[in-house]
Amino acid sequence: MERGGCVNQRAAPSLTPEWELALQKSFHANPNIRCNDADYPVDDTQSVIKPAFFNAIGGSTIRWGAHFPRFRPSDFYPHTLDGVATDWPMGYDDLVPYMDINDQMMGVSGLAGDTANPPRSPRQYPPLASCEGSKRLIHGANQLGWHWWPADAAIATADSTTRRACNNCGPCGIGCPRHARASADTAYLAAAQHAGVELIQHTVVTRILTSTGQAKAIEIRTQNNEKFVIDLEHLVLAGNAISTNVLLSSMNDWNNPLLGKGLMLHPTAIVTGFFRDNLNSYTGPFATSIVSQQFCETEKKRGFVRGFQLQALRGQGPLTTALGGYGNPVAWGRSHAKGFSQAFGHGMSLTVTCEDLPEPVNRIEVSKEKLDHFGMPTAKMHYRLGSNTEKMKTYGIERARQWLRAAGAEKISVNPLSKQAGFHLMGTAPMGVSERDSVTAPDGRLHGVANITIIDASVFPSSSPVNPTSTLQAIALRAADLMARRLSP
Ligand code: SF4
Repeated sequence: MERGGCVNQRAAPSLTPEWELALQKSFHANPNIRCNDADYPVDDTQSVIKPAFFNAIGGSTIRWGAHFPRFRPSDFYPHTLDGVATDWPMGYDDLVPYMDINDQMMGVSGLAGDTANPPRSPRQYPPLASCEGSKRLIHGANQLGWHWWPADAAIATADSTTRRACNNCGPCGIGCPRHARASADTAYLAAAQHAGVELIQHTVVTRILTSTGQAKAIEIRTQNNEKFVIDLEHLVLAGNAISTNVLLSSMNDWNNPLLGKGLMLHPTAIVTGFFRDNLNSYTGPFATSIVSQQFCETEKKRGFVRGFQLQALRGQGPLTTALGGYGNPVAWGRSHAKGFSQAFGHGMSLTVTCEDLPEPVNRIEVSKEKLDHFGMPTAKMHYRLGSNTEKMKTYGIERARQWLRAAGAEKISVNPLSKQAGFHLMGTAPMGVSERDSVTAPDGRLHGVANITIIDASVFPSSSPVNPTSTLQAIALRAADLMARRLSP
């Protein structure tokens, strides 16, 4: 059951001249700006980073860059290694079989041999080609002696029966008409329906009804605003840290003081280098060039624990470049044409993606008194950067500058915090063995209501410095596998 509907990627706005306007409107990452029919408002007045997710079949993989790293072995033990957050109730090796299956389903391109990660199952596709901007960055990393590697990407680089090879057109974030870029719907839906899944679209679950420690039914509202109650035996929630919190808070006889607390967002700075030559940097999938995991692990002398990933972003389209892209807008007036021609195609950016710590003050608060237009309780994000993250980000910005200078950039601009980058919503219902220090069990089931399973990133006890989708999907497959073993003879 999904509050949004199917998005036909073959008709994605990527192919239209208005594709950059779509990025600012109906495909904006922020639901408060996008305001599509399926969206619900999120009060973000107390959050320095704004929410970013998509309501549709396929969820936020409808609007993503398809960067597909795996969490690394040390990401599962932040408490043992550094005395922060809590360790996961499972390790990297427990997830590898599910990561391997998921890689096959999503279709991943990449290159074996990355020295910063354990060996992975063979990638289905060879890595994306390096553009001129990536080559400059590779040169810079080699000068500095830093780790770099082609990004793992859920993007096909060769034709198959269902997908065509990426043609480097660029606007992956608003859909891929060639189906080169995978999304959860294109990867899984047909198989799920073949196995008996019935899909109900444009329908909002407004409440979970419980009795004696069991979920008994859900209350739903259809597109025509009709209300129904549906009985259930087992309920699986795959929302995000916001909507899962709203639904769990709707239960009258269940509560856990940890629910909603420890929201993690991957605070991200973006540092852009402009090169004298025209690199045509707007061509190619925007988020999947190369990455450096040189600074992912703790090194105490840096003054903070845990680490960050540096991820290269290619340049942006003409409208987005003029509006400032990842940095400052090109000045309007007489100097505009010159400023624009120096920026468009000339810039490569590096994100400083910081491992966030689960701090109780960063949280989702649900108000049962204030309802949205679907009759659902409303969510409010409280988020500010912790001091460890601030120090990490400052250090990371300097490293990004260093890399861009070594790569030959002549001008560097810094966006110290990408405010619209709340796309990795993690934590608030962390998994663990004991009900005292976690909300969900290691198999994703809710402590205290064992017939509810959560398979979104709410269950992450810590955040790693790398993008979460691959790990999140592996967690979902593992929960499904354990459920199948438990429920079928
Ligand atoms: S750049 Fe490649 S993956 Fe992205 S939209 Fe174009 S064809 Fe699809």
